[in-house]
Amino acid sequence: MIKIKSREEIELMRESALIVSKTLGEIAKAIQPGVTTLQLDKIAEEHIRDHGAIPGFLGLYDFPNTLCMSPNEQVVHGIPNNAPLVEGDIISVDCGALKNGFYGDHAYTFAIGEIAEETKKLLQVTKESLYEGIRQFRAGNRVGDVGFAIQNYTEKHGYGVVRELVGHGLGKSMHEDPEMPNYGKRGRGKKIKEGMVVAIEPMINLGTHRIKQFSDGWTIKTADLQPSAHFEHDVAIVNGKPELLSTFKYVYESLGIVSNEEEEFRQ
Ligand code: MG
Ligand code: MG
Repeated sequence: MIKIKSREEIELMRESALIVSKTLGEIAKAIQPGVTTLQLDKIAEEHIRDHGAIPGFLGLYDFPNTLCMSPNEQVVHGIPNNAPLVEGDIISVDCGALKNGFYGDHAYTFAIGEIAEETKKLLQVTKESLYEGIRQFRAGNRVGDVGFAIQNYTEKHGYGVVRELVGHGLGKSMHEDPEMPNYGKRGRGKKIKEGMVVAIEPMINLGTHRIKQFSDGWTIKTADLQPSAHFEHDVAIVNGKPELLSTFKYVYESLGIVSNEEEEFRQ
């Protein structure tokens, strides 16, 4: 069942989402060759707790850390470790926070120093596909419209859309109804309504869409071991339109990136 949120609840969710956004901004300041994912995990946990929130993933389904950190061919759910990041890596950093009883859930894929041109393009197209999807997340449309937009945009570039993992409703639980696949058919699936809040999160592979689960029981990798990208925003329906609750603003401030990509999703 889809849980519709009141305006007050949406404002509380914005607070949770912004804690995650700021945490990703802190990660952006520290992420560089030689840093380990476990060091970044500590920074994130401290930052979340300093803001009166609780790490959203730590202990969720028994996940052992604050961040899911998934480098290169890892799609999602990578576990932080002591291996230093290396120039040329990419890494999906997925972070959750719980405050006032509501979750924020938000991810960005970082480039470590200079990366290959084809990987740069994968990151750019995946992030653009996130906004293609969000544009279709409006009252009266259906869940399939969002998935179609993401799939159509990324497959045009020859990329693989992961099928087994999907976006989701968000609220007092990390994963609520409805599921938000990154593929689908126009006009199909549940109807999008005022007060819905979801996490939209394309997971897009440079090569095949097929994936494999690693022996740790968590890490998901691409079947062909080519790179995979992942970007995630929390979005509410306000006045029938998509309203971003999360923001990449803090990441961009840390990285010196100028962007107005989020403007159309603010009221
Ligand atoms: Mg996430
Ligand atoms: Mg999510």
